Amino acid sequence: MLKVNPNYEKLPGSYLFAEIARRVKTYSSENPQADLIRLGIGDVTRPLAPAVVEAMVKASREMGEAETFRGYGPDYGYDFLVNAIIKNDYQALGVEIAFDEVFISDGAKCDVSNVQELFSNDAVIAVTDPVYPVYVDSNAMMGRAGEYVKDRWNRLCYLPCNEENGFVPPLPDRPVDVIYLCYPNNPTGTTLTKAQLKLFVDYAKHTGCVIVYDAAYKAFITSDAPHSIYEIEGAKDVAIECCSYSKTAGFTGTRCGFMVIPHGVVGMGGNGQPVELNAMWKRRMGSKFNGVSYPIQRAAEAVYSVDGWQQCMANIHYYLTNARIIREGVQKAGYTVFGGVDAPYVWMKTPTGMDSWTFFDKLLHEVHVVGTPGAGFGPCGEGYFRLTAFNTLEKTQEAVERIQRLGR
Ligand SMILES: *Cc1c(COP(=O)(O)O)cnc(C)c1O
Repeated sequence: MLKVNPNYEKLPGSYLFAEIARRVKTYSSENPQADLIRLGIGDVTRPLAPAVVEAMVKASREMGEAETFRGYGPDYGYDFLVNAIIKNDYQALGVEIAFDEVFISDGAKCDVSNVQELFSNDAVIAVTDPVYPVYVDSNAMMGRAGEYVKDRWNRLCYLPCNEENGFVPPLPDRPVDVIYLCYPNNPTGTTLTKAQLKLFVDYAKHTGCVIVYDAAYKAFITSDAPHSIYEIEGAKDVAIECCSYSKTAGFTGTRCGFMVIPHGVVGMGGNGQPVELNAMWKRRMGSKFNGVSYPIQRAAEAVYSVDGWQQCMANIHYYLTNARIIREGVQKAGYTVFGGVDAPYVWMKTPTGMDSWTFFDKLLHEVHVVGTPGAGFGPCGEGYFRLTAFNTLEKTQEAVERIQRLGR
């Protein structure tokens, strides 16, 4: 009989959201009159920008005419989109990225989880704690995370982020090969300054490790936090950057993103010689990926048009207003809160001595508000709780009033 990949059996299971759904369902069936408000939504809710829809429809019609029909697209993405990215995402920041350093993809989750194929099986991985679970699971599936013991993987290097260090991860305390960073951060909603990020770039340069930088929430930045890791000097020698139209332009159901792998980012080959990760990724994309459909790449291009950008930013502004209402309102209720300025997430401390699942139940049962327990994002998430800005303005206001009524 086929022997299956043993690492899958070690996975703790998608415990977090399944458990939330179970508790909400149980409560709702016992209390059908309860009007629940969900501030746990991790998905956008505003519709696509009209300029984006228009571009998608136009490109779809082109596919139905003999003169403009297109078959397989280029493996790494259409020129028009790659050029729009180079100009708008990088040249606008004073960063030069070469045409063949950009890879169009079907999203950042796929990229951040597929990129581990380029690492040796014994590579040591560092992640922040709390963390977006995809970095951990994709490596655990290949055995790099070791064994799951109690609440953590024994071969991962966790970088604890908490109130004491202002959610700024410490540098690894032992040698690692890869560091995953995500800023603005999911789940904490916090950012790193250029100086804080530079410590990681310098460390990677000094030790020879590679940084995988997830910038999925960069469109939410309102402070002077960096929009790209390449704003940091030297980053083009050590960092891969993943971006997505999911949160920027509401593409979670439309699917498009991109990854940048500069030629300067290298690993060690079998003969001890440096190997470009860019060349390896090209090889992988050519064999395993057929690209994103033409209408969707045209839709992504339209995000950068004058109208498209204005419309997308209006949606971001809507979410950021919700984030501010949550942040200020929950703070007024007496809670300590973080994030919510450069991100659609507010990370709050649970009342002293109350664990994050107990607080989840308290909010659900007493004021009918659903959030996400911090413990679900890693051991350091215990004692914290995530609220998201993706519900409507009205529901968000109502939820915050309910939390204020509850008090601390
Ligand atoms: C939502 C999200 C993404 C985007 O993933 P897509 O596959 O592009 O939809 C990436 N990283 C983080 C941390 C996210 O929360």
